[in-house]
Amino acid sequence: MRHIVRAKLLLTTMLTVMISPSWAASGDPSWGYKNQSWWLIKDTLSTQPVPLNYPYGTCGIGSNQAPVDIQGSASTARLNRPNPRYIPGLPTFYNTGYSVQVNTEEGYLGSVAIGNDVFSLIQFHFHAPSEHTFNGRHYDAELHFVNIREDGKAAVMTSMIMVGAANAEFQKILDNVPTAAGQKNSTSGVRLNPNLLLPTNRRQFFTYAGSLTTPPCAEGINFYIFAKPITISSDQLAGLKRLYDNNNRMTQPLNGRVLTSTKTGGMGQ
Ligand SMILES: [Zn+2]
Repeated sequence: MRHIVRAKLLLTTMLTVMISPSWAASGDPSWGYKNQSWWLIKDTLSTQPVPLNYPYGTCGIGSNQAPVDIQGSASTARLNRPNPRYIPGLPTFYNTGYSVQVNTEEGYLGSVAIGNDVFSLIQFHFHAPSEHTFNGRHYDAELHFVNIREDGKAAVMTSMIMVGAANAEFQKILDNVPTAAGQKNSTSGVRLNPNLLLPTNRRQFFTYAGSLTTPPCAEGINFYIFAKPITISSDQLAGLKRLYDNNNRMTQPLNGRVLTSTKTGGMGQ
């Protein structure tokens, strides 16, 4: 019971964070990437007793925070592989004030299956440079697909992004996202296929239990990070960075967590 209540609370929190543009949020104090001590931000409108007027406390006291630096991992052949079943849709393009974000339309049926669980794709968004690092090194950008199960449990699937060949699907996003923070574009009529923003080789991936990488940093979110990156052109990266640059949270301590990954070294790896 408690589990369900927690999950519902998480879902509500996440949807608020993800769908409300930052400027429209009431009661959620604004935050930024320059000073990432988000747990110190006080809700000055709150009449709640301390510590309830520090709405982002989890960002500081949580022990399962994301992102993390990927230095090594325990390999296992028995991991449940994420199987994306995304379909083309007619999304809404958001400039949230924190990132470029694409929300799927109401009734969108694209999902990712992980084991026996099915998670619906709610939205995806970009960070530049990447939030997860590999031995301390960033990719040029990182794409987070936010997928939510019926009970509110979330799975974030990520594509690392590096400069290379242009990506036509990514260009549709750049061409349709509003340039002003807090704006959305729901009337583009543009059909977008999220599958084309995933690496075709998804054989190797890393997974761990993490959190939202933005306030309120809620935990209980499983990450699935594909080892192979996708590419966008240098012009496309510049276009993304003109909207948002350095919107990456610093990596967080593992605190004893072990990353697991699929085995490496086979043909075609
Ligand atoms: Zn993200």
